[in-house]
Amino acid sequence: MLRFKRFASQYNQAKLLRKYPVGTILHGYEIKRVLPVPEMKFIAVDLQHSQTGSQHLHIDRDDKNNVFSVAFKTNPPDSTGVAHILEHTTLCGSHKYPVRDPFFKMLNRSLSTFMNAMTGHDYTFYPFSTANQADFKNLRDVYLDATFNPLLKHQDFLQEGWRLEHSDLKDPNSDIIYKGVVYNEMKGQMSSSNYQFWTKFQQSIYPSLNNSGGDPQKITNLQYHDLISFHAKHYHPSNAKTFTYGNFPLDDTLHRLNEEFSLHGRRNLKKEIPKPLDFATETRVTEIGEVDPMLPPDKQLKTSMTWLCGDPSNVYDTFVLRVIGNLLMDGHSSPMYQELIESGIGYDFAVNSGVDSTTAANFFTVGVQGCSDASRFEKTVHSVLENTLKKPFEPKKVEAIIEQLELSKKNHKTDFGLQLLYSLVPGWINKTDPFDNLVFDDILSQFKSDWAEQGDGFFRDVIERYIIDKPCFYFSMEADPKFSQTLELEEAGRLSQKVSQLDSADKETILKRGMQLQESQNSLEDLSCLPTLKIKDIPRKGDTYGIQKRPQISHRITDTNGITYLRGKRSLNNAIPLHLYPYLSLFADCLTSLGTSSESYSEIEDEMKLHTGGVSTSVSVHANAETLEPQVDFNFEGYSLNAKTEYVLDIWRKLIVETDISKHSEKLKVLIRSLASSNTSSVAESGHSYARGYTGAHLLSSRAIKEAMGGIEQLKLITRLSAVLDDSALFQAEVIDKLVELKSYVIAKDEMKFFVTCDGDKQVTTVESQIQIFLNSLPDQSQACSFSAAKYPTLTASGKPTLVTFPFQVHYTAHSRMGVPYVHADGASLQVLSNLLTFKYLHREIREKGGAYGGGAVYSALDGLLSFYSYRDPHPLNSLNVFNNCGKYALEKADWHTSNLDEAKLTIFQQVDAPISPSSEGVTEFSYGISDDMRQKRREQLLDVTLSDVRNVAEKYLLDSKSVSAAIGPKLAEMKEELWDVKQLQ
Ligand SMILES: [Zn+2]
Repeated sequence: MLRFKRFASQYNQAKLLRKYPVGTILHGYEIKRVLPVPEMKFIAVDLQHSQTGSQHLHIDRDDKNNVFSVAFKTNPPDSTGVAHILEHTTLCGSHKYPVRDPFFKMLNRSLSTFMNAMTGHDYTFYPFSTANQADFKNLRDVYLDATFNPLLKHQDFLQEGWRLEHSDLKDPNSDIIYKGVVYNEMKGQMSSSNYQFWTKFQQSIYPSLNNSGGDPQKITNLQYHDLISFHAKHYHPSNAKTFTYGNFPLDDTLHRLNEEFSLHGRRNLKKEIPKPLDFATETRVTEIGEVDPMLPPDKQLKTSMTWLCGDPSNVYDTFVLRVIGNLLMDGHSSPMYQELIESGIGYDFAVNSGVDSTTAANFFTVGVQGCSDASRFEKTVHSVLENTLKKPFEPKKVEAIIEQLELSKKNHKTDFGLQLLYSLVPGWINKTDPFDNLVFDDILSQFKSDWAEQGDGFFRDVIERYIIDKPCFYFSMEADPKFSQTLELEEAGRLSQKVSQLDSADKETILKRGMQLQESQNSLEDLSCLPTLKIKDIPRKGDTYGIQKRPQISHRITDTNGITYLRGKRSLNNAIPLHLYPYLSLFADCLTSLGTSSESYSEIEDEMKLHTGGVSTSVSVHANAETLEPQVDFNFEGYSLNAKTEYVLDIWRKLIVETDISKHSEKLKVLIRSLASSNTSSVAESGHSYARGYTGAHLLSSRAIKEAMGGIEQLKLITRLSAVLDDSALFQAEVIDKLVELKSYVIAKDEMKFFVTCDGDKQVTTVESQIQIFLNSLPDQSQACSFSAAKYPTLTASGKPTLVTFPFQVHYTAHSRMGVPYVHADGASLQVLSNLLTFKYLHREIREKGGAYGGGAVYSALDGLLSFYSYRDPHPLNSLNVFNNCGKYALEKADWHTSNLDEAKLTIFQQVDAPISPSSEGVTEFSYGISDDMRQKRREQLLDVTLSDVRNVAEKYLLDSKSVSAAIGPKLAEMKEELWDVKQLQ
């Protein structure tokens, strides 16, 4: 394979290199190699712990958002989810930190910018990031102790994995059911047909990897001792890879790692790398899955074709493969999109489409969802692939890809370290040398020279080598109306079989165990063993991002690395007739999908990729910081290198002024179909947001507009529109006419404002004159409309909670109440209250006791709305009850101390002080009208909130105020019609 060599001397990073002399021994680690990566402004240092052989990768970069991670190779031996359940239980207490859930408790003792743990196919990793050095040390300690010295108590296994428990702990005669956090989490995942498709595809093509998350049908086979031995086998330094990124000293981390690792010997672990299915000939697998209620009955098929294309340790080949995947499938002008999606064979690409290199094999997959004819799909894919051998790819498309890669190197992202880690871990844990993946410029220049020398030829080589006439793996999933019923029957059978084996002594043990678990969940703990930051670690003065405010074009000058970011918006507060609001999102999508009278969207998109980092349009709505009145804006954004801003403006002009909705009605149908095909999965993934949006829409006009544009009301609209696509008269009246009318209200030069972010005054002047030219191309005024957004009606509630039925296995719930505008003094206390409720009450009630995957309270500072939610919840009625009683709890039962208050504030400041990218500086002021002074005032109010302030707002806003509740999920027997409003989505 191709190896890249680069020499330190050619780069001006000598000083950094002198910091890490190869061969040096530091705290039991030897510096093995050093790699300068000037194009990304970092140096990579590869170290090995001599005693255990554990590898550490350090990325030294002048970035304050530091990252730490520990990763283990964890091949799952079966589908019981052992790796995933272990990931959860390691976080339930360790020797040094023997408290329930130290990981979760650290969330509010820290200023972390990210904390999580993740189970991949054959690895588990524990990353966090923070910009505070004391915090970094604290979290690193908790992470290391959690992974290497966890308590792994039997009770933790029962809580996080699975258990049998009485449905009512007070009643020994109540039904015995399955409970457990991971058990419910995975049942929840199975609610999504996209997940079903993805996971069954994965299991079919790569059976040796099993299902690392856990198949609910198999999870209940897992025994406690399996968990213990899985930990003993895999969580050893010799099987661990650690990672640090940022500007904190490496020395300190090595010292701490050595302290931990020197307690272990060295293991010679045989690196087992499971291989995918050996499909020497064509292989076909068909599975069944959930019916998508939002798609027509004849469009329920998901189907795909996959080829095995070498393995990711060949970094350059993998890169070229990705480029090919991009050329074939990315964007409106790609041949697969045109032949499969525009032609109507599928509504959208299937979730497994593209190049996957996260296992020990590369897969190239083309798949569609919303399909009815698998054989037409297959023929089309074959013919597109064969065509690539006959007709070369357009050179400007390859240039566009190179351009995008070059630009992405300059566009600073605040989570760069984490993203780098994610890209490295899957390969690194197998056999890819991480250094091979870090030499961005070498890969790119190799690619440029190969392309210059061989042109299209070397793409064809790869396609011929791996794809044409090579065995293909066909995977399909058909919808079965009985699917969820089958799952329920299976669970009931599995349960009754288990229960039938229990004698009365077993049942007594189960009852006792359930009560013990509840008792321990309810007990108050001494958390003093856990490290914590203090409120004094939060500076009283916040960062400022002053902008040069002008009536029409404001700007901010900052270090943008040669990029100019452009934003424009037009207020629609008094522009849109009531009946057209629900069409606003679709309208914004049309602008970046359809095309103009003279150009197809593919042509515009090619130009966009060739000259800019991307251009987008959207309609947003938020509440006014002082009045709570809705602010509706039409927004357009884009960025490019400084010298290319005129392209951004020219593309804006084409999209905004010249988009021709009537001419591109066929593309509009494709767009509506693809939106419809993702509706159900987006509810399955974020049902709690939909439920929250729905309840909030009863209280606030801005939320009601949001609901119409993007909530459950919007899903209904898209479903309704997708049903009229084949009736040309209805399609004209219900879709085209509405959007054309909307355009006449939205597009005009009055009320337009711009915000330019770049690195110099000269550039501002240049861009200002380009904006004037852009403005001259716009109509002076839009069609007159007398409706004001402030009068937009909220949804009306009957007083009963609403159930929106969906064929899921679990529920998502929400409950909302009104708070105050951003500038109101009570806002800060409400924000602290919602945080205390989440961490000190709801987490225990909803997640630990209720078995939901997540739940809490959120205070939206800008909309002044207090919302409660639960996520993948097996006990929605209980959760809503808990939400309703939060006020009473806060006033009568809560025993909150100053330390709790400080924790709540720390958590809030994780967000307030999260690092932001240069492109986002000042945007809060431009987009929401919140100035640096307003933010500073809010900051001080937050820091100054007292416990009595918290009590006051609990009394004022949580007791007698109007509240609205809703759930999304299946109808339960207890949800009787007289108590609930039941709504069908279809
Ligand atoms: Zn999990």
